[in-house]
Amino acid sequence: MPSIFADKTFTNSFASLSSEFYSRVQPQLIENTTVASINPDAGKLIGLSTADLMSEEFRQIMACETLPDNAASLATIYSGHQFGSYNPQLGDGRALMVGEIASDNGPWELQLKGSGKTPYSRMGDGRAVLRSSIREYLCSEAMHGLGIPTTRALALGHGSTPVYRETVEQAASVIRMAPSHVRFGHFEYFFYTGQHDKHKELLDYIVNTHFSELAAKPEAERYSEFFREVTHRTARLIAQWQVYGFCHGVMNTDNMSILGLTIDYGPFAFLDDFNPGFICNHSDHAGRYAYNRQIQIGLWNLNALAHSLSGVIDENSLKESLMSYEPTLLESFGDLMYQRLGFNTRKDDDSELLSDLLTQLAQEQRDYTRFFRKLCDEKLDQDSDLVDFFIDRQCFASWLDAYKQRLKHEQSEDALRQRQMKSVNPKYILRNYLAQEAIEKAEKGDYQQVNDLLKVLQSPFEEHPEHEALATTPPEWGKMLEISCSS
Ligand code: AMP
Ligand code: MG
Repeated sequence: MPSIFADKTFTNSFASLSSEFYSRVQPQLIENTTVASINPDAGKLIGLSTADLMSEEFRQIMACETLPDNAASLATIYSGHQFGSYNPQLGDGRALMVGEIASDNGPWELQLKGSGKTPYSRMGDGRAVLRSSIREYLCSEAMHGLGIPTTRALALGHGSTPVYRETVEQAASVIRMAPSHVRFGHFEYFFYTGQHDKHKELLDYIVNTHFSELAAKPEAERYSEFFREVTHRTARLIAQWQVYGFCHGVMNTDNMSILGLTIDYGPFAFLDDFNPGFICNHSDHAGRYAYNRQIQIGLWNLNALAHSLSGVIDENSLKESLMSYEPTLLESFGDLMYQRLGFNTRKDDDSELLSDLLTQLAQEQRDYTRFFRKLCDEKLDQDSDLVDFFIDRQCFASWLDAYKQRLKHEQSEDALRQRQMKSVNPKYILRNYLAQEAIEKAEKGDYQQVNDLLKVLQSPFEEHPEHEALATTPPEWGKMLEISCSS
């Protein structure tokens, strides 16, 4: 049998960097691995068919038993600010960079997560439990489905090797893919260890490989524009998180992608009820990473990155870029929120209309996603039962009246607006309770809900009548799940 990778070249550009950047590590077998779920959409990006992903060879890769020919397996070193304090030694404690596959849409770097100890595992075992692997697998694709930049997930493996957390759990693996998995923390590591030549080597590698449009510019300009672009991508990313009610949960600088992707899905959550102060990470006692603090934390993290770049980028230029974070974020946030409201034009008092709505949603803790999806069905000259969604019906009725007047002002047409709104207001999001139900079934070997969720979350704006149950209001227990970093 020819290898499923026979017609692909595995390269590993990261391996061409100096040896200080990584360690070569062999993955360690996960016993009795089954491929619990495959993602043909991600497979397509790297030229792997469904049959390839269902092959014995692929299963052996998910089991960490074998790697494709020519694949390197590297664990990379980084550091970062965790909950505001600098941790000098982190790194890929449980993920291996397998290599890059070239494709029409650029190179995709593959990482095998849960593959065992690396020199950067610290006290950890290098494993990932099924629970956290399902969450990462599904949320990566849910974010992609919503149009939010993210690492992708190719497949989920589930084995019998025991993993010791609060209880004994089962080991799992995920292959994730991104153009690069480099984080802010990679830059911080070389800065804080005083390895300035290596820091510059990394900077050149990232700029030349992933910001190639800047490569021809004079050096000072090239680096300045690179940081400006990272700032803007981060601002736009966090704007999208806020718009869709996504809480990352652990916005440490080692979990911030230099490409502006959502990376490292741990105790994340999508808001059920609109509670701006919501803290999804059970271990985040001070609420540093609460939903309504993500915007300022994004800037804090960019400041940390800027500090690590201060030797190569002029201070004024760094400051100027940082100053552009908030306006960039607000512009993206506004653009998307007004689309969610069905506005095609902008009016001065739109921001007041939006903030009045968010205030009532917050005061009454109404379901954020369901409200916007219901709003899509409004007709301008017909009364609806949307007022029943609120306790203070009168307050909402007056908002709705102003909203409809606003739509009439731009001659909004019901059918067209409804179509447009439904293309930005999801029916399906990865609620914690849905992930939890899928996990409990998968732990017993039933992967149906994982696969059903994968399907609906990849096209969350469409109707999936056979999966109506995945779009209902969460049960009370489902709103109170406590998710911690331990995974
Ligand atoms: P995280 O909170 O998942 O971003 O992880 C923080 C650091 O701990 C990173 O360096 C991870 O690679 C590492 N890490 C997390 N879980 C494990 C584990 N089970 N084994 C080894 N290292 C881990
Ligand atoms: Mg991490």
